[in-house]
Amino acid sequence: MAGNDVLYLVIPCYNEEAVLPETARQLLNKMNSMFERGMISRESKIMFVNDGSKDKTWEIIEELHASNPIYSGVKLSRNKGHQNALLAGLMTAKEKADMAISLDADLQDDVDVIDQMVEKYYEGNDIVYGVRSARKTDTFFKKFTAQGFYKLMQAMGVEIVYNHADYRLMSRRALEGLAQFKEVNLFLRGIVPLIGYKSDIVTYERHERFAGESKYPLKKMLAFATDGITSFSIKPIRLITTCGILIFAVSILMLLYFLVVHFTGRTVAGWTSMIISIWAIGGLQLLAIGIVGEYIGKIYLETKERPKYIIETVLND
Ligand code: UDP
Ligand code: MG
Repeated sequence: MAGNDVLYLVIPCYNEEAVLPETARQLLNKMNSMFERGMISRESKIMFVNDGSKDKTWEIIEELHASNPIYSGVKLSRNKGHQNALLAGLMTAKEKADMAISLDADLQDDVDVIDQMVEKYYEGNDIVYGVRSARKTDTFFKKFTAQGFYKLMQAMGVEIVYNHADYRLMSRRALEGLAQFKEVNLFLRGIVPLIGYKSDIVTYERHERFAGESKYPLKKMLAFATDGITSFSIKPIRLITTCGILIFAVSILMLLYFLVVHFTGRTVAGWTSMIISIWAIGGLQLLAIGIVGEYIGKIYLETKERPKYIIETVLND
């Protein structure tokens, strides 16, 4: 399908010097082939967002931009994390683009489905989700944790697209919708379905990371999952309430039991049951306070309304 809309590819980069030149080359080929087929406007860009990298990532972006103005760059003032970097890029792209596709710098997201995404956009979809068909290349650990993550999210009532990460196309009007979400605790894959509009999916096989290593160690993944749940669901708090009610009911039964024991005169019994309940309830209370604290922490951060990112430089002409 042909059209003349402006496409921006938005790529967050954190210490990606090892993959960036190859990523740039492959994306340029892709853009050129779409220009030739008259699918997109020649004003389209490949926009790299440097998320406060400590290596030569920004220097490489500057060189790319100097060599060919199709490469554009956004430099954040410091490292703000994948989600914030992505948002910074999308919000910058929104000024000039009719549609933007976000993808990772490491070529794990199959570049060849970009065409399909653009076609679906011309068919009238405002959001096109890239969905992984298989996880052949992931390590067992990654597969296991990632699938557990999606299951847990679903159980907690967070509406997310299964096996969809952050590889997606969004139209300008969807980006404008996204801009209206003011929350500081960003979890894009939870927010995007809330924007609405007509959407579709394309499936792809996720490749192995081209070079360099994952910037998502277990610690970051766990933080990401906790954030996803507590920013979108109050189920954990409800669970605590339910637990509280159940335990209260049990304690009333226990009371009855104790009274019976007392009046039948068999009073010195049950040290074990007592010590167990002290520990169990103590633990439960700490857990409950912790979960409530997690939400209070979120409220604290939201009320401060701190900027999600600060842009230092934009290379785009
Ligand atoms: N990334 C980022 N800021 C960070 C961590 C990661 O912009 O603080 C980028 C990274 O450069 C990559 C994308 O987010 O383009 C996904 O990261 P990665 O490939 O390491 O995650 P994985 O594929 O292992 O989940
Ligand atoms: Mg990756």
